[in-house]
Amino acid sequence: MSETRDTGRIKTDREIELMGNSSRMVAETLKILGDLLGPGKTTGELDRVAEDFIRSSGGVPSFKGYRGFPASICASVNSEVVHGIPGSRVLENGDIISIDVGVVKDGYHGDGAATFPVGEISGQAMELLETTRDALGAGIGEAVHGNMVRDISAAVQKVIEDRGFSVVTDYTGHGIGKNMHEDPQIPNFVTNGDKSMLASGMALAIEPMVNIGGSEVKTKADGWTVITKDGSLSAHFEHTVVVRDDKAGILTKV
Ligand code: MG
Repeated sequence: MSETRDTGRIKTDREIELMGNSSRMVAETLKILGDLLGPGKTTGELDRVAEDFIRSSGGVPSFKGYRGFPASICASVNSEVVHGIPGSRVLENGDIISIDVGVVKDGYHGDGAATFPVGEISGQAMELLETTRDALGAGIGEAVHGNMVRDISAAVQKVIEDRGFSVVTDYTGHGIGKNMHEDPQIPNFVTNGDKSMLASGMALAIEPMVNIGGSEVKTKADGWTVITKDGSLSAHFEHTVVVRDDKAGILTKV
């Protein structure tokens, strides 16, 4: 049967419970940072608050040291897409900042991201944030037993392109569990060869990355920060979810 190859990815109820704990910590961290950030704050300050909160709650920030990444969160401002390194950059009124948080606790990972306005942002920037959040919601809506991964991809892509924005295709969502990145990949666009099936109990990180301008991105000289090639704004929302029969469960919530 075609679905048997997915059996290894199905989590037990106990595993989902543990992933719920780490994922809740991710959501709490994002809430704290969202309340804290504003004009005059540095991205490094946000990183320190996140690391203190995660460690004092009994978790470990899973990004820190991952392939040498130097911080606990990714902080990507304006035209930075993902993997921005927190530091001395001061947030200014009108910026947008994408914050990505990963936590491992009791051996299981949670992963989530959100893009926040800094002070007053433009109408177009607000529309970008709303579109990316809606695309994530549409993708989660397809994360049910018996659907294919490409149903998630198609739903995400449609929301983004219907509103005239571009899908970043160089990075994808992913399965998650004992490892931060597991099979299957969850592209934010339809790829013809993808025949992966979804089954109840699979845990997925769905994470659309959306640009106002073109879809092309490049990596900065720091080796991490991904930016849009044309300098346009970019947004990123992510939830860790569990596939269920009728409706996916969102684990990265407070
Ligand atoms: Mg992720």
